[in-house]
Order: sequence, then C-alpha cells, then structure tokens
Amino acid sequence: MENNTVNIESKNSFWASVSSLWSGLMLSLRHIRKATKRRNQAYISDKDYFAQKEGLVTLKYPYEAIPVPDNGRYRLHNEIDDCIVCDLCAKICPVNCIEIESIKATEEIGITSDGTKKRLYAPKFDIDLAKCCYCGLCTTVCPTDCLTMTKVYDFPEVDIKNMIYHFTDLTPEQAREKQLLFEQQQAAKKK
Ligand code: SF4
Ligand code: SF4
Repeated sequence: MENNTVNIESKNSFWASVSSLWSGLMLSLRHIRKATKRRNQAYISDKDYFAQKEGLVTLKYPYEAIPVPDNGRYRLHNEIDDCIVCDLCAKICPVNCIEIESIKATEEIGITSDGTKKRLYAPKFDIDLAKCCYCGLCTTVCPTDCLTMTKVYDFPEVDIKNMIYHFTDLTPEQAREKQLLFEQQQAAKKK
C-alpha cells in the first residue's frame, strides 16, 4: 500500500516537471518570435511613444539612440560671447562646480545678443562636469541665457581632469594684459 502511494507521488512529480519545462520552453519561444519584430523609432513627444508594447527595444548604440527630450538636462555649454561674468551661476550651484574669475575692463567691451553691455572679462570660467548634478539651477538664473543644457549626454573621459570644461576666450597672456590695463587705469585715476 505504501509502495503504491510512493509510485503515484513520483509519477505526479515527473509530470509536474515536464509541464513546468514545457511552459518555460513555450514562454522562451514566444519571446524569440516577438524578438524578430522591431519597434518603430518614435520620438518621446509622439503620442504613440508608449503604445508600442511589443518588439525588440535594444538599439545598436551608438549607431542608433533613443531621441532625448527637448527639456533634458545634459552637458552644459556657456556661450562665452554672451556671458556678462555676473557670477550668479557659480553662486547658486549647490555643488560648487563652477569657478569663475573676472577682470574689470577699462571700457565697455561689447554687447550680448540680448543687448546687455559687457564690462568684465572672464580669464577663468570652468565647469567641472564630473561634480555637476545636472540640477539646471545655473541655467535658470543666467540673465543672458548664455548658459544652457545641451542634448549631449555621452561624454565619458578616461582622465577625470578632462571633465573640467574651460569656457574662457582669453589666453593667460591676454588676461595678464587686461589686468595690467585695469591697474594702470586705476593708478591714473588716483593721480
Ligand atoms: S547644473 Fe546644477 S550642479 Fe551643474 S553646474 Fe549648474 S547649478 Fe551646478
Ligand atoms: S549666470 Fe550666465 S552671464 Fe552670469 S556668469 Fe553665469 S553664465 Fe555668465
């Protein structure tokens, strides 16, 4: 009697294993069949972006890439010609990754594209993108909109020092010359 019960239990367990293996095999085959189809590339703002529920989603990066949203926050860029060196961006940065030095000009040195007068040179305008947390606060406070988030998100470096981006348009020699001119002007005023 006891032997019969053991036989029935082992038969049940055998068929349960076969059934489980069969289900797993069918599931894998279903996914393999679906993987032969590819999703159409859709921009994130397309209304059917989330509608395509099936199909292969792996892209052959970097030859293919999912488009990034227009308001995405990626690598910063400073259009230095439009920068008035006001320091607001550096002051608001929560991780202190913007370093700016300024030199007063002896006269107006130009006008930004929004019509603001420029009176300061920036011998140093560095952003350490390895420290940046991409909060976007600096771009929000920038009065001339010269500091912007670009769509570039793929900028790895082997040497972390290369993550510091330099935006100054002055050479060290030019910076020294501008500083000297300012000091001479101040000295002349005191005479
Ligand atoms: S995005 Fe944020 S963390 Fe990065 S530089 Fe601007 S303020 Fe600093
Ligand atoms: S806030 Fe804008 S204008 Fe002012 S220093 Fe920063 S980048 Fe230049």
